[in-house]
Amino acid sequence: MTLAELPLRDDLRGLSPYGAPQLDVPVKLNTNENPYAPSERLRHAITEAIAGVAGTLNRYPDRDAVDLRKDLADYLGHGLPAGQVWAANGSNEIIQQLLQAFGGPGRTALGFEPSYSMHPLIARVTGTEWAEGTRDDGYALSTAADQVRALRPDVVFVTSPNNPTGTSESLDVIEEICDAATGMVVVDEAYAEFRRDGTPSALSLLPGRKRLVVTRTMSKAFAAAGTRLGYLAADPDVIDALLLVRLPYHLSTVTQAVARAALALRAEPLATVEVLRRERDALVTWLRGQGLTVADSDANFVLFGVFPDRGAVWQALLDKGVLIRNTGPAGWLRVTVGTPSEMAAFRTALTEVLGL
Ligand code: PMP
Repeated sequence: MTLAELPLRDDLRGLSPYGAPQLDVPVKLNTNENPYAPSERLRHAITEAIAGVAGTLNRYPDRDAVDLRKDLADYLGHGLPAGQVWAANGSNEIIQQLLQAFGGPGRTALGFEPSYSMHPLIARVTGTEWAEGTRDDGYALSTAADQVRALRPDVVFVTSPNNPTGTSESLDVIEEICDAATGMVVVDEAYAEFRRDGTPSALSLLPGRKRLVVTRTMSKAFAAAGTRLGYLAADPDVIDALLLVRLPYHLSTVTQAVARAALALRAEPLATVEVLRRERDALVTWLRGQGLTVADSDANFVLFGVFPDRGAVWQALLDKGVLIRNTGPAGWLRVTVGTPSEMAAFRTALTEVLGL
C-alpha cells in the first residue's frame, strides 16, 4: 500500500518530510549545531541529573515544568518571572503550539522570505495559510510593517538573527511591526546569543506588548540540540493560551532534568559562543578576502555566494568530506561555524573547489 492510497488530509498530499541530510561525513557544517560537545563536567552533571529522576519515571512529569521555567527566566533576565516563560521540545514545538493557538484554519501567518523554512511548514500542517512577505535588496525589512498593515495576518514571524541570511533586525523595525500588527508577533531568536556586540534582543520590547512573543532554544548556544528544549517569553496570558493546545506532559522528566543541569552549568557552553563568534567573524573576513559575497552574520553560520551552480559547489565540497547547506536565495550557500580544525578543512576544500 502506498501513501497515496491512505485517506491522508488533502492539504498534506504531495509533501515530503522536512530535514537536512543526516550524512556520515567528517565535517558537518549544515545544521547550525554547536560543534563543542558537553565537557566532562557537564556530562557528569547530566548523568547525575538523569540518575536523580530515574526512580520517578513511573510518574508523569511536572506538566507545567515549573522549576525549569524558573531557571530559564533566570537565564533570560530582563526581570522576567517564570510565569512569562514557556518551554517545549525544541523551538519547533513552541512554534507549532503558537500556530495551533493563534493560527489554524481560516487564519493567516506572514513571514519575510528568505527565512526559516519551518515557519511555513508548521503553518501548513496546522492548517494556517502562509503569506510570503518580501525583503528589500540586501534582505532588510524596511517595508515589513506596510506588508503587515496591508495583510492583517493573525501571526507574523520575524527571525532575528535571520536564518539563512544571518543578520539581525533593529528594535525599531520590530517595534514598527508590533505597532502595525493586529495579531501575534513572534520574534524567533534561536541564534540570539551569537549576535554581534550592540545588537539588542526583542526581549526588551516585551513590557506593555501583550501580543509579542520571543522564542529561543537551547539547541544552538547551549550546545544541546539533542536535548530538544525550546522556550519563549511572552505575556502570561499568551502562556494560558498555549496551555489549551499543548499535550499534557509534553516535556519529559528526563528532558526537564537534563535542561536544568545544562542551565546550571551554562557558563561552559556559553563560553563556546565567544569562541564561535570570533571564528565566525574570521570566516566572514576570509570569504570576503577571496572575493566572495557574504551577508553580515549575527548567528553561528554564514551565507555566502553567489554561484551560478551552487549545487555543484555544494556537491564538490561534500565529495571532499565537508557538508554545508544548499539553502537560501538562488546562488547562495550556508555554512555553519565549526571548530578551528573544521573551519580549516572547509577553507581548504573551498579553495580547491573554487580554484581560489
Ligand atoms: N528557529 C530557527 C530560526 C532555526 O534555525 C531553528 C533550527 N534550525 C529553530 C528555530 C528550531 O530549533 P529547535 O527546534 O532545535 O529549537
